[in-house]
Amino acid sequence: MTEDFIVRLKQEWFQRFDEILDNSRTIPLSGLKCLELCEARCCPRVGMRSMQADQIASPVVVLLPFEMEYLIEKTGVSRELFRRWPLALTPEIAIEIGMLDLGRPCPFLTEKLQCSIHEHNPLDCRTFPLLPYQNHREELEWELGANCPSLNFLNPNFVTVVKRVWQDIYQRLPQSWWDIYAFADHWTGWTETHHAD
Ligand code: SF4
Ligand code: SF4
Repeated sequence: MTEDFIVRLKQEWFQRFDEILDNSRTIPLSGLKCLELCEARCCPRVGMRSMQADQIASPVVVLLPFEMEYLIEKTGVSRELFRRWPLALTPEIAIEIGMLDLGRPCPFLTEKLQCSIHEHNPLDCRTFPLLPYQNHREELEWELGANCPSLNFLNPNFVTVVKRVWQDIYQRLPQSWWDIYAFADHWTGWTETHHAD
């Protein structure tokens, strides 16, 4: 019974990811000047670049439920590449979600500081430098990521569409996901030796 529930939920999320990626073909260009101005500061991997860990604009990427499995299916990477964190779907049923952080550096960043899975990259990456968060009334709100040098170039139409995508999935996300997402902002579980590749 539990397994059926998880399988069904996974199928629903996979379909959602397909739709988001499909929609993304019609998402307006972000306007960000990542290649001109940046060294992929929002990708949690420091050893390839001259920057220190505190210059990383987004030191943790938190995947949505079943997004790790979706990425594995699309790219063939191993589950071991991800930090895995328990997520309670219901009081009785838990799954694991994936995270990439400075201790589990993103394996998809190329030597040229580009994302090698751009077509499938996680929604958290796709959304940056917009940062969704849940306010104290449990409503979806937004802030901008610090350390992103492209903030002044952000296309308002891109912002509108990305916010719409998140509004759609907001109701589907369990509260426990938002709890992990909020906690990840303060996640310092990696050690000094993990600051390099
Ligand atoms: S979104 Fe901002 S921080 Fe990320 S690569 Fe582009 S310019 Fe850099
Ligand atoms: S998946 Fe791509 S965009 Fe996301 S952190 Fe890795 S290299 Fe950067």
